[in-house]
Amino acid sequence: MKGFATQAIHGSPLKRDPHGALRPAIYDNVAFEFADAHEAQLAFEGRRPAHAYTRISNPTVEAFESRIRLLADALGVIAVSSGMAAISNVLMALGETGTNVVSTRWVFGNTHSLFEHTFKPWGLDGSYVDMADTDAVAAAINERTRAVFLEIITNPQLQVADIARISQIAHERGVPVVLDGTTTTPYLFRSKDYGVDVEVLSSTKYISGGATSVGGLIIDNGTFNWKQNPKLNAQAKKFGPGALLNALRREVYRNLGSCLAPHNAFLQTLGLETLSLRIDKSCANTLSIAQWLQQQPKVTAVNYPGLATSTYHCAAKRQFPRGAGGILTFNLASREQCFAFQDALKLVRRATNINDNKTLVLHPASTIFCEYSAEEKSAMGVSDSMLRLAVGIEDVEGIIEDLERGLATL
Ligand code: PLP
Repeated sequence: MKGFATQAIHGSPLKRDPHGALRPAIYDNVAFEFADAHEAQLAFEGRRPAHAYTRISNPTVEAFESRIRLLADALGVIAVSSGMAAISNVLMALGETGTNVVSTRWVFGNTHSLFEHTFKPWGLDGSYVDMADTDAVAAAINERTRAVFLEIITNPQLQVADIARISQIAHERGVPVVLDGTTTTPYLFRSKDYGVDVEVLSSTKYISGGATSVGGLIIDNGTFNWKQNPKLNAQAKKFGPGALLNALRREVYRNLGSCLAPHNAFLQTLGLETLSLRIDKSCANTLSIAQWLQQQPKVTAVNYPGLATSTYHCAAKRQFPRGAGGILTFNLASREQCFAFQDALKLVRRATNINDNKTLVLHPASTIFCEYSAEEKSAMGVSDSMLRLAVGIEDVEGIIEDLERGLATL
Protein backbone atom coordinates (compact mmCIF):
# COMPACT_ATOMS: atom_id res chain seq x y z
CA MET A 1 0.00 0.00 0.00
CA LYS A 2 1.27 3.46 -0.88
CA GLY A 3 2.00 5.75 2.06
CA PHE A 4 0.88 9.36 2.48
CA ALA A 5 4.05 10.94 1.07
CA THR A 6 4.04 8.75 -2.03
CA GLN A 7 0.37 9.39 -2.70
CA ALA A 8 0.84 13.14 -2.14
CA ILE A 9 3.44 13.14 -4.94
CA HIS A 10 2.14 10.54 -7.38
CA GLY A 11 -1.52 10.39 -6.40
CA SER A 12 -4.00 8.81 -8.73
CA PRO A 13 -3.01 8.74 -12.39
CA LEU A 14 -4.06 11.87 -14.22
CA LYS A 15 -4.54 12.09 -17.99
CA ARG A 16 -1.19 11.94 -19.78
CA ASP A 17 0.05 15.40 -20.73
CA PRO A 18 0.36 15.79 -24.57
CA HIS A 19 4.01 16.85 -24.11
CA GLY A 20 4.78 14.31 -21.38
CA ALA A 21 5.13 17.09 -18.78
CA LEU A 22 5.51 15.56 -15.32
CA ARG A 23 3.50 18.34 -13.74
CA PRO A 24 -0.03 18.95 -15.01
CA ALA A 25 -0.57 22.15 -16.98
CA ILE A 26 -2.18 25.14 -15.27
CA TYR A 27 -5.50 25.88 -16.93
CA ASP A 28 -5.58 29.55 -15.97
CA ASN A 29 -8.64 30.32 -18.06
CA VAL A 30 -12.37 30.89 -17.69
CA ALA A 31 -14.43 29.16 -20.39
CA PHE A 32 -14.30 25.78 -22.13
CA GLU A 33 -15.55 25.13 -25.64
CA PHE A 34 -18.04 22.42 -26.67
CA ALA A 35 -17.74 20.42 -29.88
CA ASP A 36 -21.42 20.92 -30.66
CA ALA A 37 -24.64 22.25 -29.15
CA HIS A 38 -25.75 18.84 -27.94
CA GLU A 39 -22.53 18.39 -25.95
CA ALA A 40 -23.13 21.77 -24.29
CA GLN A 41 -26.65 20.72 -23.35
CA LEU A 42 -25.45 17.42 -21.84
CA ALA A 43 -22.79 19.23 -19.81
CA PHE A 44 -25.23 21.81 -18.42
CA GLU A 45 -27.77 19.15 -17.53
CA GLY A 46 -25.04 17.29 -15.63
CA ARG A 47 -25.45 14.25 -17.86
CA ARG A 48 -21.87 14.29 -19.16
CA PRO A 49 -18.94 15.43 -16.99
CA ALA A 50 -17.29 18.43 -18.61
CA HIS A 51 -15.74 21.71 -17.63
CA ALA A 52 -17.80 24.68 -18.77
CA TYR A 53 -16.76 27.67 -16.67
CA THR A 54 -14.01 28.00 -14.04
CA ARG A 55 -16.29 29.35 -11.29
CA ILE A 56 -17.99 25.94 -11.39
CA SER A 57 -15.07 23.60 -12.17
CA ASN A 58 -11.60 23.69 -13.69
CA PRO A 59 -9.09 20.94 -14.59
CA THR A 60 -6.26 22.31 -12.42
CA VAL A 61 -8.58 22.69 -9.44
CA GLU A 62 -9.99 19.24 -10.13
CA ALA A 63 -6.50 17.70 -10.07
CA PHE A 64 -5.94 19.26 -6.62
CA GLU A 65 -9.33 18.01 -5.41
CA SER A 66 -8.65 14.45 -6.56
CA ARG A 67 -5.28 14.38 -4.82
CA ILE A 68 -6.92 15.48 -1.54
CA ARG A 69 -9.73 12.95 -2.02
CA LEU A 70 -7.15 10.19 -2.25
CA LEU A 71 -5.17 11.38 0.78
CA ALA A 72 -8.28 11.72 2.94
CA ASP A 73 -9.92 8.57 1.54
CA ALA A 74 -13.02 10.70 1.07
CA LEU A 75 -16.11 10.48 -1.09
CA GLY A 76 -15.49 13.83 -2.70
CA VAL A 77 -13.73 17.17 -2.30
CA ILE A 78 -14.51 20.73 -3.35
CA ALA A 79 -11.64 23.21 -3.29
CA VAL A 80 -12.72 26.75 -2.46
CA SER A 81 -11.28 30.24 -2.28
CA SER A 82 -10.40 30.23 1.46
CA GLY A 83 -10.86 28.40 4.74
CA MET A 84 -13.70 30.78 5.59
CA ALA A 85 -15.41 29.92 2.29
CA ALA A 86 -15.19 26.22 3.16
CA ILE A 87 -16.90 26.76 6.53
CA SER A 88 -19.57 29.14 5.25
CA ASN A 89 -20.45 27.01 2.21
CA VAL A 90 -20.94 23.84 4.22
CA LEU A 91 -23.00 25.46 6.98
CA MET A 92 -25.14 27.35 4.47
CA ALA A 93 -25.82 24.10 2.62
CA LEU A 94 -26.83 22.32 5.83
CA GLY A 95 -28.69 25.03 7.75
CA GLU A 96 -31.44 27.53 7.14
CA THR A 97 -33.50 30.09 9.04
CA GLY A 98 -34.80 28.64 12.30
CA THR A 99 -32.08 26.01 12.62
CA ASN A 100 -28.88 25.96 14.64
CA VAL A 101 -25.29 24.78 14.75
CA VAL A 102 -23.86 23.44 18.01
CA SER A 103 -20.34 24.78 18.33
CA THR A 104 -17.96 26.32 20.82
CA ARG A 105 -16.57 29.78 21.55
CA TRP A 106 -13.14 28.23 21.13
CA VAL A 107 -12.94 28.57 17.37
CA PHE A 108 -10.97 30.84 15.06
CA GLY A 109 -12.12 34.46 15.68
CA ASN A 110 -13.51 34.99 12.17
CA THR A 111 -15.47 31.73 12.44
CA HIS A 112 -17.07 32.96 15.66
CA SER A 113 -17.81 36.26 13.94
CA LEU A 114 -19.36 34.32 11.01
CA PHE A 115 -21.75 32.62 13.45
CA GLU A 116 -22.59 35.74 15.45
CA HIS A 117 -22.55 38.53 12.88
CA THR A 118 -23.21 36.87 9.52
CA PHE A 119 -25.40 33.82 10.16
CA LYS A 120 -27.38 34.98 13.20
CA PRO A 121 -29.13 37.90 11.43
CA TRP A 122 -30.29 35.39 8.77
CA GLY A 123 -31.76 33.16 11.46
CA LEU A 124 -29.11 30.41 11.62
CA ASP A 125 -28.15 30.35 15.29
CA GLY A 126 -25.01 29.14 17.02
CA SER A 127 -25.11 27.58 20.45
CA TYR A 128 -21.83 27.28 22.26
CA VAL A 129 -20.57 24.56 24.56
CA ASP A 130 -17.25 23.30 25.88
CA MET A 131 -16.33 20.46 23.49
CA ALA A 132 -14.40 18.74 26.27
CA ASP A 133 -17.74 18.37 28.09
CA THR A 134 -19.45 15.75 25.95
CA ASP A 135 -22.60 15.77 28.13
CA ALA A 136 -22.99 19.45 27.30
CA VAL A 137 -22.62 18.66 23.58
CA ALA A 138 -25.36 16.04 23.86
CA ALA A 139 -27.64 18.42 25.79
CA ALA A 140 -27.19 21.25 23.28
CA ILE A 141 -28.33 19.22 20.26
CA ASN A 142 -32.05 19.58 19.51
CA GLU A 143 -34.40 18.82 16.62
CA ARG A 144 -33.38 22.08 14.92
CA THR A 145 -29.64 21.28 15.00
CA ARG A 146 -28.10 20.82 11.57
CA ALA A 147 -24.44 20.29 12.51
CA VAL A 148 -21.95 20.02 15.34
CA PHE A 149 -18.99 22.19 14.38
CA LEU A 150 -15.59 22.21 16.06
CA GLU A 151 -11.88 22.63 15.41
CA ILE A 152 -9.37 19.83 15.74
CA ILE A 153 -6.84 21.80 17.84
CA THR A 154 -8.41 25.05 18.96
CA ASN A 155 -6.40 28.17 18.43
CA PRO A 156 -5.01 29.68 20.62
CA GLN A 157 -6.38 27.57 23.51
CA LEU A 158 -4.97 24.35 21.97
CA GLN A 159 -7.81 22.22 23.25
CA VAL A 160 -8.14 18.73 21.75
CA ALA A 161 -11.57 17.13 22.05
CA ASP A 162 -12.47 13.45 21.86
CA ILE A 163 -13.62 13.45 18.25
CA ALA A 164 -14.90 9.85 18.07
CA ARG A 165 -17.09 10.42 21.15
CA ILE A 166 -18.49 13.70 19.76
CA SER A 167 -19.24 11.97 16.44
CA GLN A 168 -21.04 9.18 18.26
CA ILE A 169 -23.16 11.67 20.23
CA ALA A 170 -24.04 13.67 17.12
CA HIS A 171 -24.87 10.57 15.05
CA GLU A 172 -27.13 9.16 17.75
CA ARG A 173 -29.15 12.35 17.27
CA GLY A 174 -29.08 12.29 13.46
CA VAL A 175 -26.69 15.24 13.18
CA PRO A 176 -23.45 15.38 11.13
CA VAL A 177 -20.08 16.48 12.52
CA VAL A 178 -18.26 19.21 10.62
CA LEU A 179 -14.64 19.52 11.72
CA ASP A 180 -12.15 22.27 10.92
CA GLY A 181 -8.95 20.26 10.41
CA THR A 182 -6.73 23.17 9.36
CA THR A 183 -4.01 22.59 11.95
CA THR A 184 -3.66 18.85 11.37
CA THR A 185 -4.58 18.20 7.71
CA PRO A 186 -5.27 14.59 6.67
CA TYR A 187 -1.57 13.85 7.34
CA LEU A 188 -1.79 14.22 11.13
CA PHE A 189 -5.44 13.27 11.52
CA ARG A 190 -7.61 11.29 9.11
CA SER A 191 -11.00 12.57 10.15
CA LYS A 192 -12.95 9.74 8.50
CA ASP A 193 -11.45 7.24 10.95
CA TYR A 194 -12.97 9.23 13.85
CA GLY A 195 -16.50 9.51 12.47
CA VAL A 196 -16.22 13.07 11.13
CA ASP A 197 -18.67 13.53 8.26
CA VAL A 198 -17.32 16.68 6.67
CA GLU A 199 -13.87 18.14 7.15
CA VAL A 200 -13.27 21.74 6.22
CA LEU A 201 -9.88 23.32 6.24
CA SER A 202 -7.89 26.35 5.35
CA SER A 203 -5.35 25.15 2.79
CA THR A 204 -3.78 28.61 3.17
CA LYS A 205 -1.84 27.11 6.09
CA TYR A 206 0.20 23.90 5.93
CA ILE A 207 -1.05 22.78 2.51
CA SER A 208 -0.12 25.93 0.58
CA GLY A 209 3.54 25.04 1.07
CA GLY A 210 4.65 28.15 2.91
CA ALA A 211 1.92 30.81 2.80
CA THR A 212 1.94 30.97 -0.99
CA SER A 213 -1.80 31.39 -1.51
CA VAL A 214 -5.21 31.51 0.17
CA GLY A 215 -7.49 28.50 -0.28
CA GLY A 216 -9.89 26.13 1.41
CA LEU A 217 -11.16 22.57 1.17
CA ILE A 218 -14.45 20.82 1.76
CA ILE A 219 -13.92 17.10 2.27
CA ASP A 220 -17.04 14.95 2.39
CA ASN A 221 -16.08 11.64 3.97
CA GLY A 222 -19.24 10.02 2.62
CA THR A 223 -20.27 8.76 6.06
CA PHE A 224 -23.50 10.67 6.69
CA ASN A 225 -26.97 9.76 5.49
CA TRP A 226 -28.11 13.16 4.21
CA LYS A 227 -31.75 12.04 4.24
CA GLN A 228 -31.61 13.02 7.91
CA ASN A 229 -31.14 16.68 6.95
CA PRO A 230 -34.54 18.14 5.87
CA LYS A 231 -32.89 20.52 3.42
CA LEU A 232 -30.94 17.77 1.68
CA ASN A 233 -33.57 15.04 1.93
CA ALA A 234 -34.78 15.27 -1.67
CA GLN A 235 -31.21 15.39 -3.04
CA ALA A 236 -30.27 12.41 -0.87
CA LYS A 237 -33.03 10.36 -2.44
CA LYS A 238 -31.59 11.19 -5.86
CA PHE A 239 -27.84 11.36 -5.22
CA GLY A 240 -27.40 9.20 -2.08
CA PRO A 241 -24.19 10.02 -0.19
CA GLY A 242 -23.32 12.62 -2.84
CA ALA A 243 -26.23 14.88 -1.78
CA LEU A 244 -24.17 17.51 0.03
CA LEU A 245 -21.50 17.67 -2.68
CA ASN A 246 -24.21 18.01 -5.28
CA ALA A 247 -26.01 20.76 -3.34
CA LEU A 248 -22.73 22.62 -3.03
CA ARG A 249 -21.52 22.16 -6.60
CA ARG A 250 -24.85 22.93 -8.24
CA GLU A 251 -26.06 25.57 -5.83
CA VAL A 252 -24.30 27.07 -2.78
CA TYR A 253 -20.66 26.95 -3.94
CA ARG A 254 -21.63 27.90 -7.48
CA ASN A 255 -23.98 30.70 -6.51
CA LEU A 256 -21.72 32.23 -3.87
CA GLY A 257 -18.80 32.26 -6.31
CA SER A 258 -16.42 30.52 -3.93
CA CYS A 259 -14.05 29.03 -6.50
CA LEU A 260 -10.33 28.56 -5.95
CA ALA A 261 -8.16 30.31 -8.54
CA PRO A 262 -6.45 27.73 -10.82
CA HIS A 263 -3.03 29.19 -10.10
CA ASN A 264 -3.61 28.76 -6.36
CA ALA A 265 -4.72 25.17 -6.99
CA PHE A 266 -1.40 24.60 -8.78
CA LEU A 267 0.59 26.09 -5.88
CA GLN A 268 -1.33 24.05 -3.33
CA THR A 269 -0.94 20.79 -5.28
CA LEU A 270 2.79 21.51 -5.25
CA GLY A 271 2.56 22.22 -1.50
CA LEU A 272 0.99 18.81 -0.97
CA GLU A 273 4.10 17.10 -2.29
CA THR A 274 6.19 18.29 0.67
CA LEU A 275 3.38 18.37 3.23
CA SER A 276 4.45 15.39 5.32
CA LEU A 277 8.10 16.53 5.48
CA ARG A 278 7.15 20.03 6.52
CA ILE A 279 4.61 18.92 9.11
CA ASP A 280 7.06 16.43 10.65
CA LYS A 281 9.68 19.16 10.98
CA SER A 282 7.25 21.74 12.31
CA CYS A 283 5.87 19.31 14.95
CA ALA A 284 9.39 18.27 16.03
CA ASN A 285 10.50 21.93 16.27
CA THR A 286 7.38 22.86 18.25
CA LEU A 287 7.90 20.09 20.79
CA SER A 288 11.60 21.00 21.27
CA ILE A 289 10.75 24.69 21.70
CA ALA A 290 7.89 23.93 24.12
CA GLN A 291 10.25 21.80 26.23
CA TRP A 292 12.92 24.52 26.13
CA LEU A 293 10.43 27.25 27.10
CA GLN A 294 9.36 25.19 30.11
CA GLN A 295 12.92 25.50 31.44
CA GLN A 296 13.00 29.31 31.20
CA PRO A 297 12.42 31.13 34.52
CA LYS A 298 10.85 34.20 32.84
CA VAL A 299 8.21 32.02 31.14
CA THR A 300 5.28 31.53 33.52
CA ALA A 301 3.37 28.89 31.52
CA VAL A 302 3.69 26.86 28.30
CA ASN A 303 0.73 25.30 26.52
CA TYR A 304 1.26 22.64 23.84
CA PRO A 305 -0.79 19.44 23.51
CA GLY A 306 2.44 17.55 22.79
CA LEU A 307 3.68 18.27 26.35
CA ALA A 308 2.88 15.76 29.07
CA THR A 309 1.76 18.71 31.24
CA SER A 310 -1.08 19.63 28.86
CA THR A 311 -4.63 18.74 29.88
CA TYR A 312 -5.11 17.50 26.32
CA HIS A 313 -1.92 15.45 26.06
CA CYS A 314 -3.67 12.05 26.17
CA ALA A 315 -6.26 13.07 23.58
CA ALA A 316 -3.51 14.45 21.33
CA LYS A 317 -1.23 11.43 21.67
CA ARG A 318 -4.05 9.03 20.89
CA GLN A 319 -5.46 10.95 17.93
CA PHE A 320 -2.27 12.43 16.44
CA PRO A 321 0.50 9.85 16.79
CA ARG A 322 2.64 11.71 14.22
CA GLY A 323 2.79 14.97 16.19
CA ALA A 324 0.68 17.52 18.01
CA GLY A 325 0.84 20.32 15.47
CA GLY A 326 2.90 23.45 15.00
CA ILE A 327 1.33 25.95 17.43
CA LEU A 328 2.16 26.61 21.07
CA THR A 329 1.40 29.44 23.45
CA PHE A 330 3.38 30.69 26.42
CA ASN A 331 2.97 33.33 29.06
CA LEU A 332 5.26 36.05 30.32
CA ALA A 333 4.64 38.30 33.33
CA SER A 334 2.59 40.97 31.52
CA ARG A 335 1.41 42.45 28.23
CA GLU A 336 4.36 44.88 28.37
CA GLN A 337 6.78 41.97 28.59
CA CYS A 338 5.06 40.29 25.64
CA PHE A 339 5.50 43.43 23.55
CA ALA A 340 9.16 43.94 24.57
CA PHE A 341 9.90 40.27 23.87
CA GLN A 342 8.39 40.43 20.37
CA ASP A 343 10.18 43.67 19.51
CA ALA A 344 13.58 42.12 20.31
CA LEU A 345 13.17 39.22 17.89
CA LYS A 346 15.26 39.17 14.72
CA LEU A 347 14.44 35.81 13.08
CA VAL A 348 10.89 35.11 14.25
CA ARG A 349 8.44 37.33 12.39
CA ARG A 350 5.59 39.29 13.94
CA ALA A 351 2.72 38.17 11.71
CA THR A 352 -0.74 36.67 11.88
CA ASN A 353 -0.58 33.31 10.19
CA ILE A 354 0.02 29.73 11.24
CA ASN A 355 1.77 26.73 9.69
CA ASP A 356 3.99 28.85 7.47
CA ASN A 357 7.58 27.71 6.79
CA LYS A 358 8.64 30.70 8.86
CA THR A 359 8.16 30.90 12.63
CA LEU A 360 5.64 33.62 13.50
CA VAL A 361 4.81 35.27 16.80
CA LEU A 362 1.65 37.15 17.78
CA HIS A 363 0.05 38.65 20.88
CA PRO A 364 -3.53 37.36 20.36
CA ALA A 365 -5.21 39.64 22.95
CA SER A 366 -4.15 42.86 21.19
CA THR A 367 -4.48 41.61 17.61
CA ILE A 368 -6.91 38.90 16.40
CA PHE A 369 -9.03 39.25 19.54
CA CYS A 370 -8.81 43.07 19.83
CA GLU A 371 -12.52 43.53 19.02
CA TYR A 372 -13.58 41.44 22.03
CA SER A 373 -14.20 42.73 25.58
CA ALA A 374 -12.00 41.63 28.49
CA GLU A 375 -14.76 39.23 29.64
CA GLU A 376 -15.10 37.72 26.16
CA LYS A 377 -11.35 37.29 25.87
CA SER A 378 -11.28 35.59 29.22
CA ALA A 379 -14.08 33.21 28.14
CA MET A 380 -12.02 32.42 25.03
CA GLY A 381 -8.93 31.69 27.11
CA VAL A 382 -7.04 34.65 25.64
CA SER A 383 -5.01 36.36 28.35
CA ASP A 384 -3.04 39.59 28.14
CA SER A 385 0.22 37.90 29.08
CA MET A 386 0.03 35.17 26.41
CA LEU A 387 2.00 34.95 23.17
CA ARG A 388 1.31 32.53 20.33
CA LEU A 389 4.18 30.96 18.45
CA ALA A 390 3.39 29.30 15.13
CA VAL A 391 6.55 27.30 14.62
CA GLY A 392 8.09 26.95 11.18
CA ILE A 393 10.62 24.58 9.68
CA GLU A 394 13.85 26.52 10.23
CA ASP A 395 16.72 24.95 12.19
CA VAL A 396 15.40 24.75 15.72
CA GLU A 397 18.69 26.07 17.20
CA GLY A 398 18.21 29.34 15.29
CA ILE A 399 14.65 29.77 16.55
CA ILE A 400 15.70 29.09 20.15
CA GLU A 401 18.62 31.54 19.83
CA ASP A 402 16.14 34.22 18.77
CA LEU A 403 13.71 33.41 21.60
CA GLU A 404 16.68 33.63 24.02
CA ARG A 405 17.37 37.10 22.64
CA GLY A 406 13.76 38.09 23.33
CA LEU A 407 13.83 36.77 26.90
CA ALA A 408 17.18 38.46 27.60
CA THR A 409 15.59 41.89 27.10
CA LEU A 410 13.08 41.33 29.95
N1 PLP B 1 -9.86 27.88 10.34
C1 PLP B 1 -8.80 28.04 11.14
C2 PLP B 1 -8.57 27.09 12.27
C3 PLP B 1 -7.92 29.11 10.93
O1 PLP B 1 -6.87 29.27 11.73
C4 PLP B 1 -8.17 30.00 9.86
C5 PLP B 1 -7.29 31.14 9.58
O2 PLP B 1 -6.39 31.44 10.32
C6 PLP B 1 -9.30 29.79 9.06
C7 PLP B 1 -10.12 28.71 9.32
C8 PLP B 1 -9.63 30.68 7.91
O3 PLP B 1 -8.79 30.40 6.84
P1 PLP B 1 -8.60 31.39 5.60
O4 PLP B 1 -7.74 32.53 6.08
O5 PLP B 1 -7.94 30.53 4.57
O6 PLP B 1 -9.95 31.85 5.21
